[in-house]
Amino acid sequence: MPNLEEAKELLSHVFGFGAFRLGQEEIIKSILNGENVLAIMPTGSGKSICYQIPALATKNLTVVVSPLLALMRDQVFALRLNGVPAAALNSTNSEDEKVEIYRQLSTGSLRLLYISPERLMRPSVLKDLRCFGVARFAIDEAHCISQWGHNFRPDYSRLTELVEHFPRAQLVAFTATADGITRQDITESLFRGNVCTFVSGFDRPNLEISIAPRTGTIRQINSLLKQHEGHSGIIYTPSRKDAERTAEKLSSGVRTVLPYHAGMSSADREWHQDRFITESGVIMAATIAFGMGIDKPDVRFVIHTDIPSSIESYYQEIGRAGRDGLPADTLMLYGMYGIRMRREMIDKSDRSDEGKRVEHQRFNSLLAVCESPLCRRQVLLNYFGESCKPCGNCDRCIAPIATFDGKIIAQKALSAAVRTGQRFGINHLIDILMGESTDKVVQFGHNKLPTFGVGSDVRKSVWFSYMRQLLAAEVFQLDMGNYGALKLSQKGRSVLKGAESVELHGEAVASTIGKKRKSTSLPDDADPELFLRLKELRLEIAKASRIPAYIVFNDRSLHDMAVQKPSTLEQLSTCHGVGRSKLTRYGLRFLDEINRTVANTEIKPKD
Ligand code: ADP
Ligand code: ZN
Repeated sequence: MPNLEEAKELLSHVFGFGAFRLGQEEIIKSILNGENVLAIMPTGSGKSICYQIPALATKNLTVVVSPLLALMRDQVFALRLNGVPAAALNSTNSEDEKVEIYRQLSTGSLRLLYISPERLMRPSVLKDLRCFGVARFAIDEAHCISQWGHNFRPDYSRLTELVEHFPRAQLVAFTATADGITRQDITESLFRGNVCTFVSGFDRPNLEISIAPRTGTIRQINSLLKQHEGHSGIIYTPSRKDAERTAEKLSSGVRTVLPYHAGMSSADREWHQDRFITESGVIMAATIAFGMGIDKPDVRFVIHTDIPSSIESYYQEIGRAGRDGLPADTLMLYGMYGIRMRREMIDKSDRSDEGKRVEHQRFNSLLAVCESPLCRRQVLLNYFGESCKPCGNCDRCIAPIATFDGKIIAQKALSAAVRTGQRFGINHLIDILMGESTDKVVQFGHNKLPTFGVGSDVRKSVWFSYMRQLLAAEVFQLDMGNYGALKLSQKGRSVLKGAESVELHGEAVASTIGKKRKSTSLPDDADPELFLRLKELRLEIAKASRIPAYIVFNDRSLHDMAVQKPSTLEQLSTCHGVGRSKLTRYGLRFLDEINRTVANTEIKPKD
């Protein structure tokens, strides 16, 4: 049985990393002990290493189930560059490739075989694999198995039959986001209860988290984009049309914004995705169809133009920013319209009543995050069962907002709802509160109510904010059976009677975006000129071998080289991400560039 020491040696020699990250070590230990493992680790925390190293250490076959062709291709490229025998079995294989893969399978020389769930579950493939012998299945994006996951895929649910086909194989599954309900479901269906679960630090300290009511989508987005010239990013929109529109509005001569959604032809989608991955500075305006398995480490921002469906999906989506550990921005905009749409979508879904109730509850949790005056990170991590101190890297920490006793305000709003029979939506109630004699108000005689105009001292946008807060605090409920009318909850009735109070806060004074700008550029002690040269060299190599630049070396590796300025292969091998195989393949070219640049700068007189 290989031990952790051997695993560490592989980490350094094959992948060029000095130490395991938080969580990796205990997961690998458990896998090496032969246990089934379900690991929930945030995006970018290094899940792949957790099954790649055991595959190398135990010297037998691991079958990796992965949902996306593009992802498989990149992973296999990257592994081969590190000298790992890996292959992907999919529809793009030529006949020769297929023969070669089967040859490697039969001689037992292959360590990692990537495959999609639908291909794996074909009877013929199952039969072949049973014959070659599979030591372990590693299932990526395992939340897709669960009906409760935010990304259920029917082809994934068939993986629950693997236990029957391979009763002796080890099962390890990974996902970035699974809340308690999803975890429970995976544990039962995939593992039949036989599994060790690891939940490792959900926190992504390098992500700056901002959430703001929508006041002008394009303007708000632009103010963030201004700080990210030349950076790659993702803008999530709720619909296909919005994705198209956003791409059109934001594109300019110097900025490439491409749409991506399930309504496009698969050729166009693939083309856009390829440009996003390989070119630098491309922005994707996309529906949630985009992103799963996208491995690009230098995504510098993720924007949501409207509220997502749950904390799970929100956290997964913003997690696609800053995988390289360098600072990245996230911004979610939201408003009443999106909130109503989400409610409607849940009600119209084909879930059972119980399922709808769970989904509404989940959505409430996200709404509460939006309206909470507390540190965003604290509230988010709390949802996943973790705690942290106020983070200093979210809008609430950067520009704290004060709260006050909102009982009177809540009572005004509640009484407006009660006196109109709890049959009207937010807009109408606010009109009454502000004393606006709109046609509808007059038509129903609501201008004669005692509550008419009792809230005219508050601005309309502030009333909207209060109403959302009252909804998030579950003082009000949206009655979707009645076109989104506001109903009183138990708590609402108790607030109205004066038996209970409710905390409110004003609108955030101004956007905090850019208030606390951190540099996403080089560490202080790095040589910027050298970094640029190394980037050029990387691009040249990437282009010649037609692979994404970051697969050659990622930014962190180049940063490290620009700081350490190694002059020998041995020194170079201590830089981040430089394993034996890449050292042999690229070492001399990078050393050459480093030596030349360093010599030049030393000759130049200092001013
Ligand atoms: P995810 O958890 O999102 O699947 P990946 O496996 O793609 O993350 O890893 C994210 C990045 O972190 C990759 O560039 C990977 O090479 C790097 N990485 C993983 N483990 C380590 C480590 N122990 N030390 C340094 N970098 C690591
Ligand atoms: Zn914070």
